[in-house]
Amino acid sequence: MKVLVAVKRVVDHNVKVRVKADESGVDLTNAKMSVNPFCEIAIEEAVRLKEKGVASEIIAVSIGTSQSQEQLRSALALGADRAILVETDEKAYPLQVAKILKGVAEAEGAELILLGKQAIDDDNNQTGQMLAALMNVGQGTFASEVVVEGGAVKVTREIDGGLQTVNLPLPAVVTTDLRLNEPRFPKLPNIMAAKKKPLDTKTPADFGVDMTSKLTTLKVKAPAERSAGVKVASVDELIDKLKNEAKVI
Ligand code: AMP
Repeated sequence: MKVLVAVKRVVDHNVKVRVKADESGVDLTNAKMSVNPFCEIAIEEAVRLKEKGVASEIIAVSIGTSQSQEQLRSALALGADRAILVETDEKAYPLQVAKILKGVAEAEGAELILLGKQAIDDDNNQTGQMLAALMNVGQGTFASEVVVEGGAVKVTREIDGGLQTVNLPLPAVVTTDLRLNEPRFPKLPNIMAAKKKPLDTKTPADFGVDMTSKLTTLKVKAPAERSAGVKVASVDELIDKLKNEAKVI
């Protein structure tokens, strides 16, 4: 079973981003970039499926500028067998990404397509759902357990207040939630070996995808500044402040 893993290059989760003065987006100049954390979980799950003998090949795919090669090399160091960069300088919105992933999945004959539930830069939480719809296959989103058995995948999903288990015939799309697994750290020899693994470059046009989006970002604003808190000396003072200053009791 071939597994396709979608890997997005995003700003590292430890970086405190600043909004650009013209409010067109966040300033990423010199910012540390990483593999989207939910995509790391997707890579780890694919590697575990290969270790169990369920997956035969893991293909990591990223849509973005040539710099996304860095994140694909990380995926290769973690255990992907080969990688495909679909190179574009245009901003990749979920619908365009989903159309490209469909093209790659069909060209490769992938049976399981693993994505993160959400990219931590734009917080869309759309790509997996759109991909499943475009491919006309089942989707198991927010997965906390994935079991492949008898031509199907059983996905336990994290839903409000509990867990739901669904069974999907392959091919299927699965998006990963935080508790699915804990990604491993790449070992140095694997980082070195990853440099020699195949990384192909394609373009959106190779999959007949026009990157023009029907969505325009109008503005991006930083959250409102919060005023500093105060320390109170006693419970009486706290009650007094809540009553007379905040007027909430
Ligand atoms: P989103 O719908 O943008 O929140 O992203 C959900 C998931 O879709 C990510 O975790 C990735 O697995 C995949 N994805 C989104 N954008 C890209 C991209 N440019 N390249 C590769 N995968 C992507």
